[in-house]
Amino acid sequence: MKIGFVGLGHMGSHMAQNLVKAGFQVTVFDVVPTAIDALVAKGAKGAKTLADVAKEADVIITMLQTGQQVSDVCLQENGLFNNAKKDVLYIDSSSIDIVTCRDLHSKAEKMNIAMVDAPVSGGTVGAEAATLTFMVGGSEENFKRAQPILEKLGKKIVHAGSAGNGQAAKICNNLILGISMIAVSEGFSLGQKLGLDPKKFFEISSNASGQCWSMTSYCPVPGIIEKAPSNNDYKPGFMAKMMLKDLRLGQHAAESVNADIPLGAVTTELYSLFVNQGNAETDFSGIINLIAGNI
Ligand code: NAD
Repeated sequence: MKIGFVGLGHMGSHMAQNLVKAGFQVTVFDVVPTAIDALVAKGAKGAKTLADVAKEADVIITMLQTGQQVSDVCLQENGLFNNAKKDVLYIDSSSIDIVTCRDLHSKAEKMNIAMVDAPVSGGTVGAEAATLTFMVGGSEENFKRAQPILEKLGKKIVHAGSAGNGQAAKICNNLILGISMIAVSEGFSLGQKLGLDPKKFFEISSNASGQCWSMTSYCPVPGIIEKAPSNNDYKPGFMAKMMLKDLRLGQHAAESVNADIPLGAVTTELYSLFVNQGNAETDFSGIINLIAGNI
């Protein structure tokens, strides 16, 4: 099976590499040529254009930043949809807004392209270790086609429902993630000011009711979780501007159904402040420095 992969950033580079390791013939493209070169060195075939990716692929995967980027690469004249083979399977793993996602599903269907939205959770560590969680939106038939490929990239593949439901799940998950990162940051900052050793507090809270992924897999305090970005000067990982994008998707989604998400609103404001202070490309766990009053 031939797989075309577009978007070789923090997540996509690892995912494409895992597909190579799994034995697929993978053709890759990114607007950054060095990102393509790095994957070619690991056994992928480099493409010069989106059309080159699409022409031979049985399955196309995108891992881009925003809905606008995904729409552009799919729908432009020389893009993926116009150059896709008949009955291709298209998997978008980017985290994007539900409206753009559902619009792409309906355009894909009209062009005989089988689409699923399949955003992920698990961070770069999960992408590298192929232990991501996938939340998939689309028909049962398309889900079944995507499942064996996604199983090479993740440990948990869940069919969230019809078109766009994968994105709905991702938006709600990242709402929880953003809020919990602020919560962990507040708890650890206050603890330190009250005289608690962060390592001691981690030993307590990670075994108590405060424990959550933001604490136990991605602790924003350095010196606790070896692979967390906090141990690497908050180099991403997951950029703060990406978290802000997801929180804004959450705000828009909530407005569209008249839902109140007050903690989501405060969290969006705090990430907006953090990003505007020049931290757009800092890992999102760096927000602890804002919460602690260090910046
Ligand atoms: P990233 O910015 O590191 O990677 C995106 C890649 O897309 C870049 O290499 C960029 O050059 C490329 N790109 C942009 N426009 C393009 C175009 N027109 N054609 C080809 N390539 C193009 O982002 P990331 O951290 O890998 O995240 C990707 C998506 O996954 C985002 O939607 C993000 O919200 C989501 N996500 C990220 C993480 C994480 O921990 N980083 C975790 C879960 C989900």
